[in-house]
Amino acid sequence: MIIDGKSIANEILESSKIKIKSFKVLPCLAAVVVGDYEASAIYVRNKARVCQQVGIEFLKYKFPSNIQQKKIIDLIKKLNSDKNITAILVQLPLPRHIDKRTIIESISPLKDVDAFTSENFSKAVLKNSNFWPCTPSGIIHLIKYTGIKIESSNCIVIGRSEIVGKPLALALLNLDASVTICHSKTINLTQRCIGADILISAVGNPKLVTENMVKPKAVVIDVGINYLDGKLCGDVDFEKVSKIASYITPVPGGVGPMTIAFLIKNILTLYENNLRTNES
Ligand code: NDP
Repeated sequence: MIIDGKSIANEILESSKIKIKSFKVLPCLAAVVVGDYEASAIYVRNKARVCQQVGIEFLKYKFPSNIQQKKIIDLIKKLNSDKNITAILVQLPLPRHIDKRTIIESISPLKDVDAFTSENFSKAVLKNSNFWPCTPSGIIHLIKYTGIKIESSNCIVIGRSEIVGKPLALALLNLDASVTICHSKTINLTQRCIGADILISAVGNPKLVTENMVKPKAVVIDVGINYLDGKLCGDVDFEKVSKIASYITPVPGGVGPMTIAFLIKNILTLYENNLRTNES
């Protein structure tokens, strides 16, 4: 079965829209963009469109690629103390001369919508908070939607980035799966993948996952975003793997819309947390 991420994401967006209508003050997302990465421009446009669709204000702050790191931190400090701003995101990647970790840590954890700061990340992992980075949250939601049991399952996560692979593996572990993380230095990827009940690829390499790597009836989640012969595709050889998987996500229309739906959900969580803090 093909998992329809778009319609599952739309359910989340619809319920968020209804919730936002009841708010006295609209939530506001500030997006900090540095440089002219083509893919980033598309992601930011999509985020702006969905914010508008559900009634969230969206402000974009754009810097040229040669900007000094201090100028970005100065802006983030201003946004941290601005009462009109609910949530802040810094669109990745950043130019090489900027230290990504320093920039992320300058975001107040109360406004860190991606849960990338070490405070929010450790709360998610160690205290099992419900506030995780958006893509892993979206993926867990999709797997749960299929009704497949995560507890005691064998999961393979290919990719160990800070924004997808690593938090996703830890989220699955917190749900009592047995998790193996693979990466570019992993030897014999096929052999490791073949035993997986749930196989997730977050690499950015078209057709990395082929049918001989997939156990019959496995759940296959494709996070990758690639272009092959001018066409958008994931990491999985969809045509062949879909014939043996029990559930599979398409690209586009799988994990992508879920990432944005969970961005909206995280904005609402920050909004409600801040309301509670201000009331007490
Ligand atoms: P990164 O480039 O940060 O990480 C890629 C990971 O893949 C690394 O851990 C790398 O290993 C590993 N890797 C690279 N080559 C291989 C290989 N041949 N075999 C096994 N592992 C390999 O990417 P991101 O995590 O940011 O994103 C991954 C993909 O997901 C991209 O295509 C991105 O566009 C997409 N994406 C999609 C989202 C969505 O909403 N659909 C959201 C975010 C990302 P190593 O650590 O050793 O270098």
